[in-house]
Amino acid sequence: MTGRHRTAAVAATLTVVAGAGAAYWSLFSSYSQLLGPFPHRGRTGEKVVALTFDDGPNEPYTSQIADILLAASAPATFFQVGQCARRHPEVTARLLREGHVIGNHSLTHTMRRCLRHGEQRQETVATQAILTGISGRRPALYRPPWLLRTPSLFRVLAEQGLHPVAGVFCHAFEVFQPDPARIARRALAKVRPGTILIFHDGFDARGGNRAHTVAAVATVVNTLSDLGYRFVTVDELLGVPAYQDDPDDLHRSVGDDGPDRRSPVGDSARKEPL
Ligand SMILES: [Zn+2]
Repeated sequence: MTGRHRTAAVAATLTVVAGAGAAYWSLFSSYSQLLGPFPHRGRTGEKVVALTFDDGPNEPYTSQIADILLAASAPATFFQVGQCARRHPEVTARLLREGHVIGNHSLTHTMRRCLRHGEQRQETVATQAILTGISGRRPALYRPPWLLRTPSLFRVLAEQGLHPVAGVFCHAFEVFQPDPARIARRALAKVRPGTILIFHDGFDARGGNRAHTVAAVATVVNTLSDLGYRFVTVDELLGVPAYQDDPDDLHRSVGDDGPDRRSPVGDSARKEPL
């Protein structure tokens, strides 16, 4: 290979790597807004944090987290998988009773069903029906599995009046359940005013042991309380509705200011204390 050919090969390789990196950033990153608005934090200087829990309900871990949050009077947001909510509707109902917000996190949490419009739509519609059946209220918040989004997903969410929500992962390897102290330490290092922190009370749609996450959550809640942080739900933090007013209205666009739109953090307009 001549020097010129070698240079061309290196340039081509770098282009492919850069392209793959950019694609990954656009599709999975907490921070990319390239495909559409995807808030990962609230814009506030107040010491508030939104704890969020994905992939549940998954027993006994979701109930254990609910116990910790209840003791601390800490409302949180649970992005639930439709199949899991169907398995444990009583847990979803308890979370709602105790002032937590429930959001949509797909029906099956499978990668192959997160890529095309038709399947994305089936996943979100079915889960909206399950969660609405349990709570009587139609969720307005959606978090995609693995934060994976495509242009067609944004169209599906707009059709269904769902507001996409990102966040920052508490620990890159939480799925492997490292030591609770490590999860807590990493999570606490990421908290700033307005952070949306992502934990997992389940694992995809399969459940799994989340004992180390539960222990880490106890540490995180106690430490943040000691530091003067207040816990808020995602809708309150972002100033968007948690639920859609009319259960039959599937056509409100994302970001639409519905009549139940809450004031963003700073107005201290929390509807109901925990
Ligand atoms: Zn998930």
